[in-house]
Amino acid sequence: VTKLLVKPNEINREILKETLEDDYDVIEAVNGEEGLNILSQYYKDISLILLDVVMPVCDGFEFLSRQKSDSLLASVPVIVTTGNNSQEDELKCLGLGAVDFITKPYNARIVKSRIDSVIKLRESSMTLAAIEKDELTGLYTRQAFYHHARTFTHFMTEEKFNVVILDVADFKLINGTYGTKKGNEVLVYLSNAFRYYVKNGLLTRYEGDQLLGLFHSNEKLDIDRINKNINKIAEEAPIPNIRIKVGVYENVDTTLSMPIICDRALMAEKSISKDFKTNVAFYTDELNQKQLAQRQMENDFKSAIANKEFKVYYQPKYDVQTEHIVGAEALVRWQKPDGTLISPGAFIPLFESDGLVVHLDEYVFENVCQFQKERMENKLPMVPISVNLSRASIHFNDVVEHYVDIVNQKQIPFECVPIELTESATLYSEKILEITDQLVKAGFKLHMDDFGSGYSSLTSLNELNFSTVKLDKSLIDYIDQVRGKKIVQQAIDLGHGLDMKVVAEGVESKEQKDCLKEMHCDMIQGFYYSKPLKQEDFMVIRN
Ligand code: C2E
Ligand code: CA
Ligand code: CA
Repeated sequence: VTKLLVKPNEINREILKETLEDDYDVIEAVNGEEGLNILSQYYKDISLILLDVVMPVCDGFEFLSRQKSDSLLASVPVIVTTGNNSQEDELKCLGLGAVDFITKPYNARIVKSRIDSVIKLRESSMTLAAIEKDELTGLYTRQAFYHHARTFTHFMTEEKFNVVILDVADFKLINGTYGTKKGNEVLVYLSNAFRYYVKNGLLTRYEGDQLLGLFHSNEKLDIDRINKNINKIAEEAPIPNIRIKVGVYENVDTTLSMPIICDRALMAEKSISKDFKTNVAFYTDELNQKQLAQRQMENDFKSAIANKEFKVYYQPKYDVQTEHIVGAEALVRWQKPDGTLISPGAFIPLFESDGLVVHLDEYVFENVCQFQKERMENKLPMVPISVNLSRASIHFNDVVEHYVDIVNQKQIPFECVPIELTESATLYSEKILEITDQLVKAGFKLHMDDFGSGYSSLTSLNELNFSTVKLDKSLIDYIDQVRGKKIVQQAIDLGHGLDMKVVAEGVESKEQKDCLKEMHCDMIQGFYYSKPLKQEDFMVIRN
């Protein structure tokens, strides 16, 4: 058993050495800096650190905070010796993770018994092996990886380092379909494959199904080769059709902390996690900027709601036959305090992924209800104004209750605020069936949004109670082609056959409008008639 002794005071050190050397191997360090160096190399063999808070170069407090920030080193217990009996120092050291105190002058017997008991405790719970290696894959744990990676990059300052992260798309699905045993088998297979391809690298099971490797190479990484390798790994996997995603942070900035370095590789991987065609992505500064901007938007969200920075715009819907306004859609924009206007495409997907859209949807809904209430009170002509409800909002538990409450509170008819659901939001499930049913029972009209884009939703069209279907712009864009025209005609007929009104979205030209009129489409919403308008402008264009 070895023990590290960090003490500057010659006399005290001698005393301690004498009382301890019979039973323990004692290593001495003249200051905290040297102590940390020794500890980094021999942490596996060191059972205890005796630390004097008063030291030159790197004092006891600094030593403790640096030691405790590395979880491998942190596992070695520290007993602090203080010369001045200062309770403040003692408290500070305890806060930093020291396990015990010895105050001067030393009583040899007491010192020895305290040291013995701390060492016994440590040895009985000695689980360094478990801290070092992941049980399943045999790769380093994340903590051990950070520790070794720091040393690695520290000593090889001339080398270029890369970090690669490997992730299995929909791994939960694998566990669900094949069971966790097979899932584990896949992970072990992947770790072995990863080991094979990332030779001379430091590998870790970063999290769950994510494997991460740090390695040095002076050649540029070749994206085609990575693609070839992951295809090969996927082909030979224990189960068919696994999709492997790779994020690469090339030529890492070694002045950054390891967690940040790893996060950059992860950031690259996440940027393509929902992309079916791309499997490899490299970290770029733009990606970082984008992520920072997204964090900023999330941070600003609450105050933006409070400061009413989100503005509702209204895009009118025209009756195809009479060319009168018969409805509108509420579309949100973010007006920043500096006047810039951000379009929903830049923040809705983000807020959908983090759940903030639930609050935004409700905010927009409440604003639209208020607008309708004022029109009603002032006896102004009213048309239904539809609002968008995102998939996240649908899954939010009290959505029906909240929306019903708002309508009742404003004392407006339910029909004047229809709800638009996208195809993907309506992708059939029991839960959605239940919620849409409740909304319809409460009196809301439901519009199916973006019909004809993405997934086919004939099931939801059949099962859910829509009053209106909105044909996606992508369908309208092909209306000038023979097959495109047929598809639009069929879609309109399908809607009518199911007793629904049909709205064409994204109509930009007279030709498109004339064509839709001929096909008996009911309503048109598009730039041909009007862009989304500010509330003031929307109020004055009515006919
Ligand atoms: P969406 O619900 O499909 O809304 C229609 C989008 O098409 C709007 O884009 C609208 O400005 C645009 N558009 C309408 N006519 C034309 C046209 O003739 N040509 C072209 N090129 N575009 C046209 P916008 O306002 O940028 O909104 C984009 C999407 O953001 C919306 O697509 C909707 O999915 C989402 N969104 C907007 N507001 C909200 C909201 O309050 N809540 C939720 N959950 N999503 C919203
Ligand atoms: Ca919509
Ligand atoms: Ca739409």
